[in-house]
Amino acid sequence: MAKSFENRDGWIWMDGSFIPWKKATSHVITQGLHYASSVFEGERAYNGKIFKSQEHTDRLFKSAEIVGINIPFTKEDINKAKDLLLEKMDLKNCYVRPIVWRGSNQMGISTSEADIHVAIAVWDDWASYFKIEDRLDGIKLITSPWKRPSPETAPCHAKASGPYIICTMSKEFAEKKGYHDALMLDYRNYVAEGTGANIFFVKDKTIHTPIADCFLNGITRQTVIKMVTKQGFDLIEKHILPNEIKNYDEAFLTGTAAEITPIKSIDNIKYTTGKNTISFKFMNDFTDLVHSSI
Ligand code: PMP
Repeated sequence: MAKSFENRDGWIWMDGSFIPWKKATSHVITQGLHYASSVFEGERAYNGKIFKSQEHTDRLFKSAEIVGINIPFTKEDINKAKDLLLEKMDLKNCYVRPIVWRGSNQMGISTSEADIHVAIAVWDDWASYFKIEDRLDGIKLITSPWKRPSPETAPCHAKASGPYIICTMSKEFAEKKGYHDALMLDYRNYVAEGTGANIFFVKDKTIHTPIADCFLNGITRQTVIKMVTKQGFDLIEKHILPNEIKNYDEAFLTGTAAEITPIKSIDNIKYTTGKNTISFKFMNDFTDLVHSSI
């Protein structure tokens, strides 16, 4: 069992200063906890530099704006705090988690008196979100009974905590049945994404991915689209129906935590995996890319 997050050593940047990890607590009566009034980011540092740090900071502020939170710091403050925290924690390859939440000033749904807090933590034991042996072998997905909601129902382009309960329920559904992750369809029954990552399919030299019109247009997704297009692959963004996915040769997930993770099956549909696949090549190319942008 991994070490509990509350019982670690180190530093957390919270509301403008560095405080000991174990003291970075919040009261149980907190709006962010009760009503999921919070937004966050998930980033990765490679060799001491955060990959797409500015893009993640921009998304954090965009997410906050979408859910009506005014972050009491500038983007420069947040970028600087992330870099200083990496140095203070003496970590070069790690996961970076900024979070913004409504605090304890006010209880209930109203936000009129709400106090806003910001914290950043970094840790290095998410070196691989899926176990490396599972990534090399390809992971198994099952279709979730939970759907991504319509943009009129949820703030689908914000990385907001609230909608993550759909991902958590889907992931639990999959893990209890012995799968690594779930494939979520959207409210129209189109293929959407994994529980914490976007999805791509390969057919010959063409790469297909669902249109990000009701889920996060991941920063990794955007990076991979640029990478494969530059390599001369055709990239098609389209609405994909569940009964079409059997026609693809390969499939893979993309995300900051998952990086590129090949998929070996979705329900009873099998995909080609292994060292000779395009997904495997992309996995290695992506590793080179994140290290070369330093
Ligand atoms: N979808 C969901 C639900 C996610 O949690 C993530 C991870 N943030 C992604 C997609 C991929 O986003 P990114 O590539 O920016 O990490």
